[in-house]
Amino acid sequence: MAKAQATGALSFGSRTDVGRVREHNEDNLLVKPPLFVVCDGMGGHEAGEVASEIAIDVIARHAPTKLDADALGQAVEEANLAIFQAVRAGQGKEGMGTTCTACMIQGTKLIIAQSGDSRAYLMHASRLQQLTRDHSLVQDLIESGEITPSEARTHPWRSYITRALGIDPAMRPDLYELKVSPGDRLLICSDGLYSMVEDAEIERILATHENPQLAADALVEAANERGGHDNITVIVVDLPGNPGGHKSGDVGRSKAFAVSLIGILVLIIALGAIALNFWMTNSIYLGEADGKVAIYRGMPDGMAGLSSSEIEEMTDIDIDDLQPGIAKRIQDEGIKCDSLDAAHSLIERYEDEIAQSSSKMPPDATSDPAAPSASAESQTSDPANTNESA
Ligand code: MN
Repeated sequence: MAKAQATGALSFGSRTDVGRVREHNEDNLLVKPPLFVVCDGMGGHEAGEVASEIAIDVIARHAPTKLDADALGQAVEEANLAIFQAVRAGQGKEGMGTTCTACMIQGTKLIIAQSGDSRAYLMHASRLQQLTRDHSLVQDLIESGEITPSEARTHPWRSYITRALGIDPAMRPDLYELKVSPGDRLLICSDGLYSMVEDAEIERILATHENPQLAADALVEAANERGGHDNITVIVVDLPGNPGGHKSGDVGRSKAFAVSLIGILVLIIALGAIALNFWMTNSIYLGEADGKVAIYRGMPDGMAGLSSSEIEEMTDIDIDDLQPGIAKRIQDEGIKCDSLDAAHSLIERYEDEIAQSSSKMPPDATSDPAAPSASAESQTSDPANTNESA
C-alpha cells in the first residue's frame, strides 16, 4: 500500500508493509492532511490490526481541524476508549492495543500526540532528530542509566511497551508543540523501521531521496533488507520551502504600490547580483581532485557557463573507497553542501562508512553507539523547542 500526493503546500508519501517475518500486518496509517497518524497494533492476528484500525478511524473523525494539541490529545483518548468498547462488543480480542503517533502540521507549527513506541522524527538542516520519547521499558532503562541505547536494540525486553491505547482507560498521550522550518521533513514510523535501520542510515536515506514517496519506499526496503522482523510503516511529510529556509519576498500590496517600478527593478537586479555573488563565492560542494574527495568553494564546472571554484580543503578519502553511486555523483556533478560544517559531517560519515565496510563484523555489531545516544540526547537537549506535557 503506497500513496503519493501533494496537497496545497505539504507533499508526502507513505507505505506500510508486513515485513519479512510476520504473516499479518497489524500496523495502520492515516494520511489526511494536515493530519498524519501511525498506529502499531498488538495482540496478534484479528486483534492488533483491529485495534490500530479503530484508533485510526476514531482519530480521523475526532481530530481538530485547527492545530490544537489538547484537542488532538483528546481524539487519541477517544480512540483509547473506543478500543475498550470494541472489546466489550466482541470485536477483536481481549487485551488488544495499539501505539499511536498522531501529527498535525500547519504553516511552521507541528503538534504531536503520542502513546507507545512509534516515533516522529524531524529532518532539519540535513540532520535527523528524534522528536518523541518512546513509552517503552528499554527507554526507561536507558534514561536510568542501566543500559545504553545500543544495548537497547538487542535487549530481550525491547518490545515491552509502557503506554499504549487499549491498556488503561485513563491513558493520556504525550503532547508536543513544535516550531518547524520551511523545507523540514517529518518522518513518522513504527518500530519495525527503527529497530531494523539505525538512525544514521534513516538520515542518509531521507537525505538521498528528494521525493517523499520514494523516501518512504526506500526506508521500508532498507528495513526489509535488514531482516524485516516486524511490520514496517512510514509516513514522510515535506514542508514547503527550501531546506535551510529562506523566505520568498512577500511584499505587501500597499508597499509595492508605493515603490516605483524602476525602484523595484533596481532592487531585484541588486539583490540578484548579491545572491549570485554570495552563491558563487560561498557554495560548498564535494568534488574530486587527484582521485581523492575534495571540498570545493564555488560552483562545479559548467554550471551557468561559469567556473569559479577552488579547493577549500583536501581529504584523505579515495574516491574508489566510496559507494559507487556516491563516487559517481562526486565525479560527475559534485555533491552540494549547505555549509562547510555540513561538508565536514558528510566527510566524517563517508569515513565511518569506509571504516565499517572494511571491518569484518556483522552489520549489527558495527553499529555506532554514538548515533542512538546522540538521538536520545537530542530529544531532551532542546527544551525550548519541545514542550512535553502529560
Ligand atoms: Mn511493531
